[in-house]
Amino acid sequence: MRIVVARLLAALIAGSVAGLTGCASEPPRATDPTSATETASATETASATETTSATSTGTVAGVSDAGLRQLAPDAAGRARAIWGSGPSAADFPVRLAADRAAFAKAIGEDTVAVPAAATPSGIVVNGPEFSRLTATGQEVVLAHEALHLAVRRDPEVPGDGHRIPMWLSEGLAEHTGWTAAGHRTGAPTPLEAVPELLIAREAGSAPRTVPTNADFAHADASGSATDRAVAYQASHVAVDTLLRDHGRAAVIAVAKDTARGTPVDIALRRHTGSGLADLNERYRTALRARGDQL
Ligand SMILES: [Zn+2]
Repeated sequence: MRIVVARLLAALIAGSVAGLTGCASEPPRATDPTSATETASATETASATETTSATSTGTVAGVSDAGLRQLAPDAAGRARAIWGSGPSAADFPVRLAADRAAFAKAIGEDTVAVPAAATPSGIVVNGPEFSRLTATGQEVVLAHEALHLAVRRDPEVPGDGHRIPMWLSEGLAEHTGWTAAGHRTGAPTPLEAVPELLIAREAGSAPRTVPTNADFAHADASGSATDRAVAYQASHVAVDTLLRDHGRAAVIAVAKDTARGTPVDIALRRHTGSGLADLNERYRTALRARGDQL
């Protein structure tokens, strides 16, 4: 057990998995009118700057526009396979920002260092952060953001999907991302996808329930990359559990119901036969099973 935890820690230190979790794609949240307004105006700014110098057309720290375009078809395909609709390989707008300032300008907010973000007009890649990822990590991140883009572009989803609980939208995005690394829908969450969560479990500090939007906000406010990672990874385990037990169509139906304003507990009961309390229990069981693999 200790050897695997040590390996996970080594992977984190080496940066091979760090930075995969956490993205700046969260649309405005209905529960926070202030930030919703700010983000809404920020996204307009992002659209407005699309053709300015906010993005580059060359190579940044080994990441190139041409390289991103090569990865784009796979990311688009994985998002469509999970969400049921989404960007096509031919219409998958991805832009490269040369530095953190250009990235902040392109997405309309100066957020924590993340490798990429989905805006209404497409995906913006943060060159310096993205270049720190392994090749697999880059595939995971693009497919993660592609899922957010699919949600935003779905005509059945009002308001960019801001009513979908974050654990569900980020869990689906993480799941989609890891399909690019060979993860199959219905299989247990890969150990290497959830290192911070497993380390937190070893320490007895892993979340006991599926993270709430407030938990995500708290993790953001703490400024702790680990807290953010744990929230994303717990969401990933919860969504993988739902996908395993109920299949893709039911989980997407839950997401679309919540996007239209249905409380998540009701949407879960409607499409999976049981509510949030039952999911929390199954999440804890799945996490225990993953931890026992160490
Ligand atoms: Zn995300």
